[in-house]
Amino acid sequence: MLGMMQHQPLLVSSLIEHACHSHPEQEIISRQPDGSLQRSTYASVAQRARRLANALARLGVRPGMRVATLAWNGYRHMELYYAVSGMGAVLHTINPRLFAEQITYIANHAEDQVLFYDTSFAPLVEALAPSMPGVKHFVAMAARAEILERGPAGVLCYEDLLAAESDEYEWPVLDEASAASLCYTSGTTGNPKGVLYSHRSTVLHAMAVCSVDGLGLSGADTALVVVPMFHVNAWGMPYAGALCGARLVLPGAALDGHSVYQIMRSERVTLALGVPTVWQMLFGYVEQQKLLPRQDLCLQRCVIGGAAASQSMIERFEQDFGARVIHAWGMTELSPLGTVCHLQPKHAGLAPQERLRLQQKQGRAVFGVTLKIVDDDGLRLPHDGKAAGRLKVRGHWVAAGYYNNAGKVIDEEGYFDTGDVATIDADGYMHVTDRAKDVIKSGGEWISSIDLENAAMGHAAVAEAAVIGVAHPTWQERPLLVVVRKPGAAVTREALLAHLAGQVAKWWVPDDVVFVDSLPHTATGKLQKVRLRELLKDYRLP
Ligand code: ADP
Repeated sequence: MLGMMQHQPLLVSSLIEHACHSHPEQEIISRQPDGSLQRSTYASVAQRARRLANALARLGVRPGMRVATLAWNGYRHMELYYAVSGMGAVLHTINPRLFAEQITYIANHAEDQVLFYDTSFAPLVEALAPSMPGVKHFVAMAARAEILERGPAGVLCYEDLLAAESDEYEWPVLDEASAASLCYTSGTTGNPKGVLYSHRSTVLHAMAVCSVDGLGLSGADTALVVVPMFHVNAWGMPYAGALCGARLVLPGAALDGHSVYQIMRSERVTLALGVPTVWQMLFGYVEQQKLLPRQDLCLQRCVIGGAAASQSMIERFEQDFGARVIHAWGMTELSPLGTVCHLQPKHAGLAPQERLRLQQKQGRAVFGVTLKIVDDDGLRLPHDGKAAGRLKVRGHWVAAGYYNNAGKVIDEEGYFDTGDVATIDADGYMHVTDRAKDVIKSGGEWISSIDLENAAMGHAAVAEAAVIGVAHPTWQERPLLVVVRKPGAAVTREALLAHLAGQVAKWWVPDDVVFVDSLPHTATGKLQKVRLRELLKDYRLP
């Protein structure tokens, strides 16, 4: 017997129409290239998205076609999120920090028909246009007067396109399983692979972001979206914001410590979201300027994901900013939210060090995502907080395959292999110990490079740390600590090793320390260990 409730497809357009009716005046604040702030609203985004949908149809865009963006976080990018997906086409957000060859590879693989870009990328787009023969229209996301002389031939102007159209547009009633957006993984190994989100997965994910035990985004928040809109849809914030009516602050290209601090203060940001590298830059600025964020800012929560949040980072947000860290884990293939670390009532009495240890875990699965850990033979491992195995996931917003790629990515039980190695404890708290490809195997046992890096980051003189395995005649591999010192800070190899010896098992302590000026990062700001191993390939242990 079927239930007798109404059935409406879960569509991206329903989010912006809800925002337009329910919280039309709530602001979307965007930092412009000249540093000024542009103030839009959900009503304006909805109205302009309808105009844009008319313009796209006039340009020949039809359901299922791919429309690409090369853009920072801003209101026009948000309008594209709704116009493109809403009309049934597929929004393909390209990461402008990728190598030029990767950008053209992705645009050609996705068969993008139209490319929208921020004017700061005009020289890049001009250079790449000849190698993207499938792109029929290039549109500069600006008013006519702001369009640079450089850019591809025949470039169209975003504001002119909108000005020529009507506000009237009926969003089509699509199948909720149809594709809404496309995001390529950064391709640390091999070519980037496309993850094709559906309308249904996008809306369900937005609900999880707004749930209290998800990221808890609400209409009472002013959220600073530092995570880029070209990186897994800014962790779903443009959708979740419309769902709950959060005030959104979109910082454009200005992600340095000074700019982030200023906008947090001027817009009274309550919730900020970003990867650890960005917060390191913010801390550096606060330290250098001797600022008092607790007094200057209204920050209540900071969502950290994309890479592990170290104990020192969690403490720093608490002590200096008066803000609680919400440690989350996810990936492009998970839209991205998988787990969130919230404490339970039984943890109320934990000693501070115990609590901080728990908060370094990536947390428990949100409803909609199921986890398992398995050994090399694919057999399930116990959830005892000790056994570490390949982390696999299943759920409503988890990829079932890659776009235009025949490879099989899910196992017989329907689980996707994340490529992470993790433990899960009896309460369901998951802890990522490594990327499978970065695991260090010493004497047959695993050493967690992430745990070692976090411990090293706790030293006052360390700006950034990476741990890699290097070949060893007896132990197969031994850990090597690679450190960037803070400007002006002095610390010796011996002092760092002594600092670690107090925190990790004795046999985990790295055999050596190498000091460097900088570490290689991927286009999404993560440590690029493949490159680091290459750079240190001639290094020999003492
Ligand atoms: P890419 O895989 O291309 O680097 P993603 O953004 O999809 O891009 O990265 C997902 C990976 O980032 C995860 O598989 C995991 O290794 C890492 N990651 C994400 N969040 C965390 C976290 N909180 N702690 C540790 N690692 C994390």
